[in-house]
Amino acid sequence: VTRLSAALGRIQPSATLAMTQRVGELKRQGVDVIGLSAGEPDFDTPDFVKEAAIAAIRGGQTKYTNVDGTPELKAAIIAKFARDNGLTFTPGQVSVNVGGKHTIFNAIVATCDAGDEVVIPAPYWVSYPDIVAYAGATPVFIAAGADQGYKITPEQLDAAITPRTRWVLINSPSNPSGAAYSAAELQALGEVIRRHPHVLVMTDDMYEHIFYADFPFTTLAQLCPDLQDRILTVNGCSKAYAMTGWRIGYAAGPDWIVKAMGKLQSQSTSNPCSIAQAAAVAALTGPQDFLAERQAAFRVRRDMVVAMLNAAPGLSCPTPEGAFYVYPDASGLIGKTTPDGRRIATDDDLIDYFLDHARVAAVSGAAFGLSPAFRVSYATSDAVLRDACTRIQEACAALR
Ligand code: PLP
Repeated sequence: VTRLSAALGRIQPSATLAMTQRVGELKRQGVDVIGLSAGEPDFDTPDFVKEAAIAAIRGGQTKYTNVDGTPELKAAIIAKFARDNGLTFTPGQVSVNVGGKHTIFNAIVATCDAGDEVVIPAPYWVSYPDIVAYAGATPVFIAAGADQGYKITPEQLDAAITPRTRWVLINSPSNPSGAAYSAAELQALGEVIRRHPHVLVMTDDMYEHIFYADFPFTTLAQLCPDLQDRILTVNGCSKAYAMTGWRIGYAAGPDWIVKAMGKLQSQSTSNPCSIAQAAAVAALTGPQDFLAERQAAFRVRRDMVVAMLNAAPGLSCPTPEGAFYVYPDASGLIGKTTPDGRRIATDDDLIDYFLDHARVAAVSGAAFGLSPAFRVSYATSDAVLRDACTRIQEACAALR
């Protein structure tokens, strides 16, 4: 009776959610632990967005909607793509889903079979390989370490593509590294894609509005209009608008993919929550100036965290261009011994040591496919971050 499906057997529970749960447990036990594992902004959903949701409830927007998004939200998303990215879409090219994770899940599961390959640059967002595995397809990783700014090169991409490649995933700015591609870098990747006409590209732009590079944010569909019939541009409300709990993600691209995603969704979740969709309309069409304020606050934290982690013996922390994560390289700590005599053989060991010894919870690089490293989320207050980084510095210094 307890047999589970083969598809489920191919996936693991999310490592970031697991660490966040572990922190919650410790806190409930009264342990003074600092959690730097959660992938969500510490800011609140803006009041005008909350008000729109309340008005939607009062106004009776409490029934089923179109499966893949209300006309109002699709219009707001189309306007967003025009405003921010210079992209033009029709409603039939837009899919609204229950969070960005669901968007990616729908797209992969609707288009991949056993034997298909999906190219994933590492370090990668934890869910990509699992979603691909769930679909029965095979993830193909490209390692992009700190020495190359956590970004893949066109040569690496070209070498990873085979006749079986179905999708290439590009996530800029990246979770976990925060690395973002410049227009020239994306164009060079687009040049490779152009040479492989059987390949689809998913660009996960979830962190578009948390961006500090000295070049502007750009996305592949905008830079390579000739490839638009093979690009699915993914985005959502979770990170930019601090709406992680509302569960609204979306994608725009070829209508055959959007239609397939809607078919899958019609037999699983049906429409995303009607109230959350109304809130998302407000988020996307309302005042956008708070985005810059929040970005500025994140930037101050990034600078502090990068400086403090680089001052920790054995860590080397590149300066990310976006998102709210840093991904320090921990090569300098592997092989060292803790004060209680444990050897740090892997980044998993290091994360356990940080948790036990320093009471700081980060996520091991192993979860993101590029070791030895770890991810720190700086979506928390400056004071807490300073305390956490001091603890990490002391823990690193105590290794022999
Ligand atoms: N893509 C990336 C790179 C992410 O980091 C996340 C969230 O952590 C998502 C997509 C999915 O976001 P959500 O499902 O919360 O909208």
